[in-house]
Amino acid sequence: MLFGRSKKNPIKLADKGVVQWKYATCGYCSVGCSMEVGTNSDGLAVTTRGVGAADVNRGKLCIKGLTEAEILQAAGRGSEPLIRDDISESWQSTDWNTALDKTADEFKRIQEKYGRDTVAVVSTGQIMTEEFYTLGKLVRGVIGTNNYDGNTTLCMASAVSGYKRSFGSDGPPGCYGDFERTACLMAFGSNLPEQHPILYWRLKEALEKKKFPVIVVDPRVTMMAQMADIHLPITPGTDLVLLNSLAHVIIEEGLHDKQYIDGQCNGFEALSALIADYDPVSASKICGIDEQIIRKVARTYGNAGSAMCIWTMGINQSTHGSDGVCAINNLNLITGNIGKPGGTSLSITGQCNAMGTREWSSCSGLPGYRALENAEHREEVGKFWNIDPAFFPEKRGLAQTDIFPAIEAGKIKALWIVATNPITSMPDSGRIRKNLEKLEFCVVQDSYVDAESNQYANVYFPAGVWAEKTGCFTNTERRVNITRQVQKPFANSKPDLWIFNQLAKRWKQSEIMNFPARAEEVFDEMKQLSKGQGRMLDISGMSYDKIELARGLQWPMREGDPKGAERLYTDGRFQFPDGKARLLALAYKENNERPDNEYPFWLNSGRVVEHFHTRTKTGKVGNCNKFSPTPYMEMNPDAAESLGVEHMQYVRLVSKRGDAVVMVQLTQRVPANMVFIPFHFYNCVNRLSLGLLDPYSRQPAYKQCAVRIEYCDQQEAANINIARRNF
Ligand code: SF4
Repeated sequence: MLFGRSKKNPIKLADKGVVQWKYATCGYCSVGCSMEVGTNSDGLAVTTRGVGAADVNRGKLCIKGLTEAEILQAAGRGSEPLIRDDISESWQSTDWNTALDKTADEFKRIQEKYGRDTVAVVSTGQIMTEEFYTLGKLVRGVIGTNNYDGNTTLCMASAVSGYKRSFGSDGPPGCYGDFERTACLMAFGSNLPEQHPILYWRLKEALEKKKFPVIVVDPRVTMMAQMADIHLPITPGTDLVLLNSLAHVIIEEGLHDKQYIDGQCNGFEALSALIADYDPVSASKICGIDEQIIRKVARTYGNAGSAMCIWTMGINQSTHGSDGVCAINNLNLITGNIGKPGGTSLSITGQCNAMGTREWSSCSGLPGYRALENAEHREEVGKFWNIDPAFFPEKRGLAQTDIFPAIEAGKIKALWIVATNPITSMPDSGRIRKNLEKLEFCVVQDSYVDAESNQYANVYFPAGVWAEKTGCFTNTERRVNITRQVQKPFANSKPDLWIFNQLAKRWKQSEIMNFPARAEEVFDEMKQLSKGQGRMLDISGMSYDKIELARGLQWPMREGDPKGAERLYTDGRFQFPDGKARLLALAYKENNERPDNEYPFWLNSGRVVEHFHTRTKTGKVGNCNKFSPTPYMEMNPDAAESLGVEHMQYVRLVSKRGDAVVMVQLTQRVPANMVFIPFHFYNCVNRLSLGLLDPYSRQPAYKQCAVRIEYCDQQEAANINIARRNF
């Protein structure tokens, strides 16, 4: 007699007719998983699989990586360039020359009439590094506007700023291997199982080999918090208070590394003086964490020997984001936990190539971590690109979050949006909508014609997606990994590199410069520019073949190096002229919108595992959409009961900015004074968010604003939800 599974048919995977596998790197998140893409006899990508020999993911992929081949042929792909004089008109199909000529002519007209900086460019974290470098050369060296930024300002700018302020340079100092070497891990606002699933698996694998304490700081009981040894449900926006208090206890109890501080750090006296005010009793009143728990965590971290912090948006998206990062760095510097195995400050980045834009796009400076403010750097890059260094501005222009208010003020008249979707991703989207309507000219470059921001464009450039191109991404641990072109770009879409090169040709200045056509030639140029005595971001020892063979190589990797460096600052020398890191005394100032009688709930937002960014890709993928089809709001059952709200009822959320309709999911994951909404959906959470800016990084505080909950007509709400899903 047969029982159980043996009675059933064995699971059979559908034969997708794969005739060839090609090497690629996942084009979604910053974990940077190595994969192979299978193509059928028509040369079309039909499936993906993880690469077993790759250290990052060791053969695994998450739901997004496993279904990634579907995004190439998905509905909504842009097939032809489109054009229209006014955004109230219908689109007309056109050819590439007409679309590119129109764009160049409009940029030139507007710059001549209003000034160079009245054209702005907002790019992404999702194109190849070679494309970022070329876009930077075009914007900084040819078009010549200083109002150029990446949408990474919405997620990573505080980490960049904090690294620069503490260590003298951007660049995450640690690596994934630190999970296996650490004796204590503290995660701030980082929900790995949903945000970075394969990294979560790496953490679990490390914990199976050797148990160490995991401490999670998050106002929500996230999946990550559920696996923690200690969960600290902190009051939103008060991480700096907790971190100062942890440092207070560590120093008070003599758990700090005096030798490391004396040899490698400046600023200890000022830091000690400031944190004297952050005793656990005082701190607990602000951050909401019990004083005994603060002491216990400080002792656990201080006594660990090697301890590490990871963080994502919970720290970065705050008015104290940059200070929060510096305070994490303070904690690791005073305990001697930088540059050693298992001891690090590792910011987990968001998009697949958020690091590539930081390194090479020239958004906030010049390529290879060079600064506009540095005359030598301007000279060096000017010479390398064959242009007059005086053409470069002497300091950085507006960040993305300042570009939109500048449109409102009439200071910016034209906008080029590259592979991002600000109408959904920016805070206070009602205001962003009005800004976009005010532009004289807007061009959107995206793989998907139905990206919502395209409603405001006069020209649309259909771009190739991920595996339709060749090039590199850099992941969270500074690992450069390659994607080989798997199939031709869809219909008449073109690789972003081709679009940048063709647009550059519309300016005379480009004739004296070099704009290589092939990604590998661009990479070789970047290698040349990365060389230099003491230059940290050195990739001169890499080549495409070496990268693929190793399944990714970490920088710095200098010419002649057999492999890249796992960690930065292993010699204790930092990127300031005196070689020492800065311990920074950071006082907490309460400056967020907070719940009050009229708006009694904190509004929190974040990711779900099935979706990425604003769903331009995952919204088209069967399984991603099937498992996470609709925006919802987590609400505590006690709060719901007091308002008479029921599970799966629609409610209207109202903030001082706008309103949004969502379906209620009752859960104890959130406290009674907080609600949570995934951020991926159009016309949803960012209609409500405020997004006050961090003064250093200009990153918005998405997670710290206040809302109230109102009843709404259920049928009307269901219609809104369906319309939003099908946009
Ligand atoms: Fe892709 Fe990130 Fe999933 Fe890896 S964890 S498969 S990089 S989305």
